[in-house]
Amino acid sequence: MELKELYQEIILDHAKNPRNKGKCNDYNHEAKAHNPLCGDKVHIYLNLGEDKNIKGLSFEGEGCAISLASASILTDILKGKDLNFTKKVTNDFLNMLKTKSKITLNSLSEDQVTTINSLSGVQEFPMRIKCATMVWHTFLSALEKKNN
Ligand code: ZN
Repeated sequence: MELKELYQEIILDHAKNPRNKGKCNDYNHEAKAHNPLCGDKVHIYLNLGEDKNIKGLSFEGEGCAISLASASILTDILKGKDLNFTKKVTNDFLNMLKTKSKITLNSLSEDQVTTINSLSGVQEFPMRIKCATMVWHTFLSALEKKNN
């Protein structure tokens, strides 16, 4: 199978069966965003523990396949990880789309790297980049916004 096809399959799988959809238990941070160009909406819920681990992470949203897949992939990979790690992955992801590179993180498994790289295809479609990046920016705002 060509890499392009594999990437497409990963995106469709996540868009059709999004992981971590709904409100996670005991969330203490949240943020939402809306992309009027495409109609995508996303709302991130997260539970940041006192040990600085992301104990819970989920999303609600609607929109195009890219936006749903990106939200599903983000929650799948960052859930359960520590704060610094999640910030690093997020920055690397945003950088990947900005610089048209691919992600190569030592701290991620090979499967996770392939999954994140599946979204690199939007580099060719500037109008769609926001569909992929919005949820990652929303995740960063959620980290800043405590909700008690
Ligand atoms: Zn979109």
